[in-house]
Amino acid sequence: MSEREMETTDDDRGMDQLHVAGVTLTGVARGGVETCLMAKELGVMFDIGMCPPGAQRYGTVLASHAHADHLGGVHYLASLRSMFGQKPLKLHVPVEAAEPLQRIFAAWSELEGYQVPVEIFGHAPGATVTIRRDVQATCFRTVHRVPSLAWVVERVSRRLKPEFQGREGAELKRLRQAGVEITDEHRAPELCVTGDTQIEFLLSDESAMARRARVLVHEVTSWEAGDAGAIARTRRWGHTHIDELIAAAERFEGEALVLVHRSMRHSRKAAEAVVARMPPSLREKVHLLGN
Ligand SMILES: [Zn+2]
Ligand SMILES: [Zn+2]
Repeated sequence: MSEREMETTDDDRGMDQLHVAGVTLTGVARGGVETCLMAKELGVMFDIGMCPPGAQRYGTVLASHAHADHLGGVHYLASLRSMFGQKPLKLHVPVEAAEPLQRIFAAWSELEGYQVPVEIFGHAPGATVTIRRDVQATCFRTVHRVPSLAWVVERVSRRLKPEFQGREGAELKRLRQAGVEITDEHRAPELCVTGDTQIEFLLSDESAMARRARVLVHEVTSWEAGDAGAIARTRRWGHTHIDELIAAAERFEGEALVLVHRSMRHSRKAAEAVVARMPPSLREKVHLLGN
């Protein structure tokens, strides 16, 4: 974050917040209404359904898909950042959404009478984005009604190779100066945010990295437990039902499973009652974001 960006009066007070396994998630994720999640330790924001308090500080959006509740606020955010003299917003989207978004920005620039600065990057599944020197994000195809991506964010660091551990600093310096590669790259998936998807994403071979993420933020839109008709309806809309998540959850290897995108039909209290009935091994990993 540049000094200039810190000059804004924007803050994230009033937003839902959850601190789990070293990651702070701030924002909102309500099914069909608005999704925008900020991960301040990683310097990245996921989706921009509207433009909630705190969003203006983020220069990079990793977007899951182009439904309005996930991307409707993008023009407003780009325009707001421009007004405050911040760097142009970097918007990473599924490759299929890039060109239509360029057209939207062109039309809006025409209406506003100036070019709204934005950098739009379209990505095919498997693409990697460097957020900063120690943070990279990789996208994976999810299963939704429009082209969609999950994003896995990794911390990247360099660590001393085992054969050099315990050596004196002066010796390591000499080796380095002699051109010896004394470190290895170390990558750890910290956070995966799935966006909107059916449960198949979590079960696929391609999503192994998502299942290893320390924190997995998965959508569970429907919460009426034990209702086969509800599962079928949820799937028709390209979403996940809580019973499907419970059946798949044992494959998750990380520390925290954050369930978001609950439909407004279900209260937090109702969702908490479902969580309370989960097997203890799953219950202790599960967190809910928002009311
Ligand atoms: Zn949605
Ligand atoms: Zn959607």
